[in-house]
Amino acid sequence: MGDDASVRVAVRIRPLLCREVAERSQTCVSVTPGEPQIWMGSDKTFTFDYVFDLDSSQEIVYETAVAQLIEESFQGFNVTVLAYGQTGSGKTYTMGTGFEDESPYHLPGIITRAIRSIFDQANAKKEDGVTFEFDCQFLELYNEEIVDLLAKKDAFASLQRDGRSQLKIHENFNGDIEIPGLSREVVSSEFDVLRLLKYGGLSRTTAATALNSSSSRSHAIFTLNMVQHRQVPDVDGKYDSGVSEILRAKIHFVDLAGSERLKRTGSEGIRAREGISINSGLLALGNVISALGDKSRKATHVPYRDSKLTRLLQDSLGGNSKTLMIACVSPSDIDFMETLNTFRYANRAR
Ligand code: ADP
Ligand code: MG
Repeated sequence: MGDDASVRVAVRIRPLLCREVAERSQTCVSVTPGEPQIWMGSDKTFTFDYVFDLDSSQEIVYETAVAQLIEESFQGFNVTVLAYGQTGSGKTYTMGTGFEDESPYHLPGIITRAIRSIFDQANAKKEDGVTFEFDCQFLELYNEEIVDLLAKKDAFASLQRDGRSQLKIHENFNGDIEIPGLSREVVSSEFDVLRLLKYGGLSRTTAATALNSSSSRSHAIFTLNMVQHRQVPDVDGKYDSGVSEILRAKIHFVDLAGSERLKRTGSEGIRAREGISINSGLLALGNVISALGDKSRKATHVPYRDSKLTRLLQDSLGGNSKTLMIACVSPSDIDFMETLNTFRYANRAR
């Protein structure tokens, strides 16, 4: 796969949890040393762009798979990092948004590291006369409805009484996706961003409780919008030409809904509706990513319109953008089927 690939796929295997060790779970996945290749049993094997074995640190995951994308956002590329996998596989840990669990063992995840790096780089570039504007948005997609997690009062301010959202997706004349009415908070430091991330994370938990749901059934999308004003050097390479250019980039971090199949019991009514819309989002995402990765059929139709999730990310998946999907899996033999399903999904996305 070339260096300029617009979609990359990583797999991260989390360690066995204490509970699983106590239950005498066995590890059912293994990695070929030095290669991004995974084995399940002795016959099923998959190769990805990156494979992170159970001892991979948060830092290794960030430096290997994400740091380069953040560099590219400064060149004006939109960037999307998605965490996919069954509930309990490590999506939230990997993205680093599990603030309710303030365990000292939790090292910062992808979002915190990315934000830190963005502000460090922006501060360094200010010395070359580059100025920046940043703002954040944070939303949840629940039942194909958009919930504004940065809304001032509560996350439901954006939902009408029948549970339908007033927030609609709009594509402007440039092909940029916008959601008129969704909160946009101006930020100027790592601290500002982390505060909003915590606020939104808390709204997400509140929303889930009120809807008698769990955050594992919704997709959460945290977005940092970056605008750069750069001076264009004149023919002598001096920055006094008075000409400037504007570069825009959107950086999305997506904690996807759990990919597990709905249990037979309890999958009626609302639950069933949730199940269908979640799966339609993940299904559409798989189709979009697989159409983008299919080099032999470049002209194929990319089915962005099949779900709100793909519609929302339309200007940041494919085209002039960089995407990383991190498929998170449990190593436990109890989760064998879900893990195999995740590898199949991720493999198709490649
Ligand atoms: P998900 O968001 O996919 O439902 P979580 O991120 O909440 O899963 O992870 C489930 C549990 O596993 C949590 O207790 C989390 O702390 C732990 N965990 C996940 N990944 C790792 C990892 N790489 N190292 C250590 N613990 C992990
Ligand atoms: Mg989670």
